[in-house]
Amino acid sequence: MNHTHFLIIGAGPYSIATAAYAKHLGVETLVVGKPLDLWKTNMPRGMFLRSGPDWHLDARDVHTFEAFVKLRGLAPAQTKPVPLDTFLDYASWFMGQTNVTTHNAYVTRLEKANGAYVAALDDGSQIHADKVLLGLGFAFFKHSSRELVEKLPQGSYAHTCDTVDFEFYRGKRVLLIGGRQSAFEWAALLNENGAEEIHLTHRHATPQFIEPDWSWVQPMARRTLEHHAWWRNLTPAQQEKIRHDFWAAGRLILEPWLDARVHQPNIHIHEKTNLVGANARADKTVDVLLDDGSQFNVHRIILATGYKPNMQNVAFLDRATILDPLATREGFPALDTGFQTNLPNLYITGLAATQDFGPFFGFTVACPVAAKIIGQAVAAA
Ligand SMILES: Cc1cc2nc3c(=O)[nH]c(=O)nc-3n(C[C@H](O)[C@H](O)[C@H](O)COP(=O)(O)OP(=O)(O)OC[C@H]3O[C@@H](n4cnc5c(N)ncnc54)[C@H](O)[C@@H]3O)c2cc1C
Repeated sequence: MNHTHFLIIGAGPYSIATAAYAKHLGVETLVVGKPLDLWKTNMPRGMFLRSGPDWHLDARDVHTFEAFVKLRGLAPAQTKPVPLDTFLDYASWFMGQTNVTTHNAYVTRLEKANGAYVAALDDGSQIHADKVLLGLGFAFFKHSSRELVEKLPQGSYAHTCDTVDFEFYRGKRVLLIGGRQSAFEWAALLNENGAEEIHLTHRHATPQFIEPDWSWVQPMARRTLEHHAWWRNLTPAQQEKIRHDFWAAGRLILEPWLDARVHQPNIHIHEKTNLVGANARADKTVDVLLDDGSQFNVHRIILATGYKPNMQNVAFLDRATILDPLATREGFPALDTGFQTNLPNLYITGLAATQDFGPFFGFTVACPVAAKIIGQAVAAA
């Protein structure tokens, strides 16, 4: 049985950023997970990032994305927007520069025993750890309303997170439910990969295609470095205003580079509509009815309905020693100002930390912030 001082579960951007900084501080650290797995297996080839090269992973501001872009000699046109593969190359370079390696396995169970944490891995090994960081990311928290799902025939739908093989959709008709960036980007990619017909339905008006202004986000996310309780000390109204501004910059508009790609003869945008019914035929295609009277038949339905943390979804956490005693509020873990849960030495970062640290922590912009705070907390204790 192996022992490590600081076990990081998951190898997404938040985890590798924290591993790099913890190692820099001399903390003995082990990362278990497949590097950038969500980005490699749950995001489609051909996707572009919404964020630019100014958002990076390095708490020391040395091995930044911009430094990588300069080193590689990438022209501005090659990073505006940033292709998914370029971000993956950057993350891999960052790991090399900071000597972060991973144990490429999956933790199947984490429990607490005799004051320490014990992780069982899918390669049969076990690791004991004094401190653990959960870099859970997005995949546990796929969200879609029960009311919507109850209307859909079993086996007829999948979430965008599980729908990245567009070859499967060649020659097929598809309904996308959702009206934000991912719904529109999936529509463009499905079309470009040979889907026959694509329908989008969303309850709101179709957002405009305009350049987002993210310039205020990084300085605001970094306020947490000066004052770790900055977000939680805001009034609910102040938090709501920032959440709204962040939402408006990211979600109430669509990237201009999608405009022409989705205005295609076989892409049908049904704005301000709700799904009324979806009935499976014997051939497994689905007859869809919207509340504006539109009717069409599709092979498959894709839910572009986003993500919402709920710690109860994280099935590898032992119920008796972790999930039941874990303090949560509305599904999010309750974290102290060092990202620590009420269970001593168990830390949580990324999307699940957004309730206590603000919406920026669901995006790479806050990786250096979380890495620094958690790294220092773990090194000090
Ligand atoms: C379609 C899409 C587009 C996005 N575009 C952007 C963008 O342009 N810019 C941006 O900043 N953000 C973007 N995001 C958000 C982005 O996903 C987050 O910024 C980032 O992934 C958060 O990093 P993370 O490490 O918290 O999570 P993740 O990247 O989700 O990493 C978590 C990792 O943990 C692993 N893991 C989980 N459980 C275990 C276990 N038991 N054992 C081992 N490993 C485990 C997972 O496999 C995963 O690899 C996008 C998200 C989506 C879905």
